[in-house]
Amino acid sequence: MPLVTMRQVLEEAAKGGYGVGAFNVNNMEQVQAIMAAAEELDAPVILQVSRGALKYADVIYLRKVIEAATERHPDVRAVVHLDHGNSPETCEMAMDLGFTSVMMDGSLHPDGKTIADYAYNVEVTAKVVEMAHARGVTVEGELGALGGIEDGHGAGIDAEDDKYLTEPGQAVDFVRQTGIDCLAVAIGTSHGAYKTLRYDKAGNALPPRLALDRIEQITANLAAAGYKAFPLVMHGSSSVPQDIIAEVNKYGGKLKNAMGVPMEDIQFGIQRGVRKINVDTDGRLVMTAAIRRVLWEHPELFDPRDYLKEARSALKKLIAEKMRDFGQAGHGHDYEPIGLDGMRMQYAREAAAR
Ligand SMILES: [Zn+2]
Repeated sequence: MPLVTMRQVLEEAAKGGYGVGAFNVNNMEQVQAIMAAAEELDAPVILQVSRGALKYADVIYLRKVIEAATERHPDVRAVVHLDHGNSPETCEMAMDLGFTSVMMDGSLHPDGKTIADYAYNVEVTAKVVEMAHARGVTVEGELGALGGIEDGHGAGIDAEDDKYLTEPGQAVDFVRQTGIDCLAVAIGTSHGAYKTLRYDKAGNALPPRLALDRIEQITANLAAAGYKAFPLVMHGSSSVPQDIIAEVNKYGGKLKNAMGVPMEDIQFGIQRGVRKINVDTDGRLVMTAAIRRVLWEHPELFDPRDYLKEARSALKKLIAEKMRDFGQAGHGHDYEPIGLDGMRMQYAREAAAR
């Protein structure tokens, strides 16, 4: 099966008015669960790999697991995407591995923590676009800074602080100067299971304050500048379902005040130009809940297959629900994949026409 490019998948999603989930993978069970859900629902799918995943699983292992998935599921159209590339070198490494899409996150410096200025962001992102488009590879850029309470990308940034949000006025200039294919917007979402800093009087977490109106403004500004239906990306978009949190805690977990982005907010975004929705935390949560339950109920078990099997099927069920909610279900075969070579020629034609 040829992998498809994200540019094509998101363009088709814009035509169809739906969103496509980008699900993080770190091991075999996650890849199997996501691919099985995509096959069952006939959905296009984005498998995304972070630098942390490449470090955890090892670059060669992860590449081979994904290769195995494409062989096992020849009918599934999948994008393999680098999540939060921190430098042009990292992005190039991913392209060498055969990824069909990369994110260059120039909103932060390569340490993934220090806020970078706009000029730096434009420079590194444009550099990656030049390299990537010469190979037919899609590029996602980021404007504004995403927060995260857990360690990792954006740790320490208060996502609800207005000064970190994407400036709708700047989005057009950024897209024009860099040539990116899709834009990650900072609208108040953050990475991890604790997406809110707001609590009611009793101390219970309230959903995060999102600047959803910015999605509409950014899409409108881009359309007015000739970038019609430009695909936007929502990071940190796990919903952190409270029944799953309750299950984790019931079987010995200690997750207090975990809170995510309500699905209605994501669907509001999809109706206004969000095409890629990043989900990692929810997958981690359902797997942990399943493993805790199995071991709690059956303390005599010790075969990893006993609990990993449950974790895998819980993840498959969750991904299938997301695919229905985002609208990508049933759209796996609406179009013929162009592939990297075809996309490379398309970029060349577009450059010649400018
Ligand atoms: Zn992210």
